[in-house]
Amino acid sequence: MVQLRNVGKHFGPLRVLKGIDLTIHHSEVVCLIGPSGSGKSTLLRSMAFLEEYDEGQIHIEGQLLGWQNADVEGPARKRAAQSKINQVRQNVGMVFQQFNLWPHMTVLGNVCEALQQVRKQSKAQARERALAMLDKVGLAHKAAAWPVQLSGGQQQRVAIARALAMEPHIMLFDEPTSALDPELVGEVLQVMKDLAREGMTMVVVTHEMGFAAQVADSVIFLDKGEVVARGTPQQIFHQAEHPRLQQFLQNYLDRNAFWQDGKDAAVP
Ligand code: ADP
Ligand code: MG
Repeated sequence: MVQLRNVGKHFGPLRVLKGIDLTIHHSEVVCLIGPSGSGKSTLLRSMAFLEEYDEGQIHIEGQLLGWQNADVEGPARKRAAQSKINQVRQNVGMVFQQFNLWPHMTVLGNVCEALQQVRKQSKAQARERALAMLDKVGLAHKAAAWPVQLSGGQQQRVAIARALAMEPHIMLFDEPTSALDPELVGEVLQVMKDLAREGMTMVVVTHEMGFAAQVADSVIFLDKGEVVARGTPQQIFHQAEHPRLQQFLQNYLDRNAFWQDGKDAAVP
């Protein structure tokens, strides 16, 4: 469904992604973990061409993303036409740490907006689809509310409904619960678990190791722009061999140790 081949990315002289190879299959849930600054967001954003990767190729459902000629590097690389870029990524939905709802629109208005403006649906069509998606995230009763009247967890669920309304084939999540108060994290993770169970293809950048352990088909550990380890949750969390992964997990355990009984409890 998504294929990355030798993908690289620079910000000026800084090389933030190095030789990333990754294949994501239909209905697969991939969790990306790694220290801050390791390139997780850049990698995820590259999959929607919100960042212009400058080496290698990304294919979405068989179509080359972003470039006309991704087999060349440097200035000879030519951006594809914007209409082509939009067409290739139209089935990619994205949810960010900051939910970015429009404050001047109701919940329903937020979910309808792109259906009407981008998909050119009639108001009635958009409304029906939007209400169905709000129902899916348990917020149909908040359709007439304003974003400011919702908790952070509810706002993030609206953002998920908004992305789902566009009927994506793959959903990308970038730390969707990191901006939330701890007691609101669970309701958002539950919506994501339900989606995974329904067979949605998902790539999730997360610090929620419990979620990754429970839901991921594969976990990828990124460090300094490289894929350092990849495997099943069992392999990554219980049979970690790479010293950098071991260190990362140890840091995570140390931070969470005060309310956990021990290593096995913290990483299920
Ligand atoms: P992560 O999501 O894992 O924390 P990021 O992908 O955000 O990491 O960042 C990877 C590296 O790229 C960091 O060193 C960060 O400072 C740098 N970086 C990210 N975005 C930009 C940008 N727009 N301009 C320059 N450097 C950036
Ligand atoms: Mg990030």
